Amino acid sequence: MILLLTVKTPDEATAVIADRFRELACRLEVVKMAGALGRVLGSDIVACEHVPGFDRSTVDGYAVKASETFGCSESMPAVLTLGGEVMMGEAACAGLIPGRCIAVSTGGDLPESADAVVMVEHTEDYGDGLVGILKPAAPGNNIIFKGDDVSPGDRVLKAGTLITPHDIGILSALGLCEVEVRSKPVVGVISTGDELVEPSKTPGRGQIRDVNTPMLVAVAQRFCALAKDYGIVRDEEGPLREAVERAAGECDIVLISGGSSAGTRDLTSRVIESIGEMLFHGIAMKPGKPTILGAINDKPVFGLPGHPVAAYFVTELFVRPLVAGLMGADVRRRTASARISEAVSSNHGRAEYMAVHLDGDGMANPIRGKSGLIASLAGADGYICIPRDSEGLAAGTEVIVTYF
Ligand code: AMP
Ligand code: MG
Repeated sequence: MILLLTVKTPDEATAVIADRFRELACRLEVVKMAGALGRVLGSDIVACEHVPGFDRSTVDGYAVKASETFGCSESMPAVLTLGGEVMMGEAACAGLIPGRCIAVSTGGDLPESADAVVMVEHTEDYGDGLVGILKPAAPGNNIIFKGDDVSPGDRVLKAGTLITPHDIGILSALGLCEVEVRSKPVVGVISTGDELVEPSKTPGRGQIRDVNTPMLVAVAQRFCALAKDYGIVRDEEGPLREAVERAAGECDIVLISGGSSAGTRDLTSRVIESIGEMLFHGIAMKPGKPTILGAINDKPVFGLPGHPVAAYFVTELFVRPLVAGLMGADVRRRTASARISEAVSSNHGRAEYMAVHLDGDGMANPIRGKSGLIASLAGADGYICIPRDSEGLAAGTEVIVTYF
């Protein structure tokens, strides 16, 4: 029995996903700074302090009144009396008085009345507390003023930012030791197929190792989600329904790989229909046509093709934006333009996604492989999409490569 699939184009599928699940709420949690890297910021960070908190020297040298250095040169130095030294970590104890300079190190507090710092390289120590200034300074030279980096009220980071090491630096400069982030969505991973054995087992004839579970767990982790592994489920409706119900109860998104076509042995659609609703069955793309989207208790449930490469592409293209959306983040895909190194033919009527390897000369080499062969993805830098209305690309055609 073959049922007719309600096939969507990739764009239509993306629109259905965005439309149906846009309201999915993301949760917030507070994490210590040590665990903040790679998390998505939950709220805007608005500074309530100045950074730096005082005027500081940006060089090792002498704090001066700039006007007292005007006109000086190597042959006619301005001679100033050393009026003391600013100790690091301490406030400058004395202000500057006319005819004097004060030694200051990089990051040291700028003495009162000083308006410039002359680098030590542009000075000469004459001994007896006299310093020669060999190069005139302008007011403001070699100073970072209070609040130059950040002032109270500045929005330093936006909600939805993926926290980087330098963001952690900024937050720490503001005295924050913990930060509110979006909770990681939980992605449940179920693999179905009577032929599957765990990767640790030696498959018998007719059996294969389960590639999709560990791969999809890793993909979910790369999307900054938490993955929950439900293992291998046989091609039987009862156990599959049980696993899907459990996963839909415990997770934010459920991925079921295998059994997503419309044959009698393909149980995913039947199971989704019996406990939730089907949103579409089939995407006009290659690989990945037999893809299902359903909803159980308003949670997205994907039926992914069993072919690992197909499952990978569908997850990358359609699950990733959903995970990002749940965290209030954008998916930013890096792309590069290149020329295809050889002609490729394509299936009219289906958008075709093809892994490519980029060489140094801006050429994209297509990696051909049946969608089941995961080894074809090894060495791929990214993929190209041949539009559904195209019958292929001639060698040398310009293509946009999206990095994995
Ligand atoms: P299906 O989508 O169930 O028709 O499976 C399509 C192909 O993918 C078959 O050759 C399956 O053996 C294979 N396959 C299904 N699930 C997995 C998996 N978890 N790991 C590796 N291959 C799989
Ligand atoms: Mg199967």
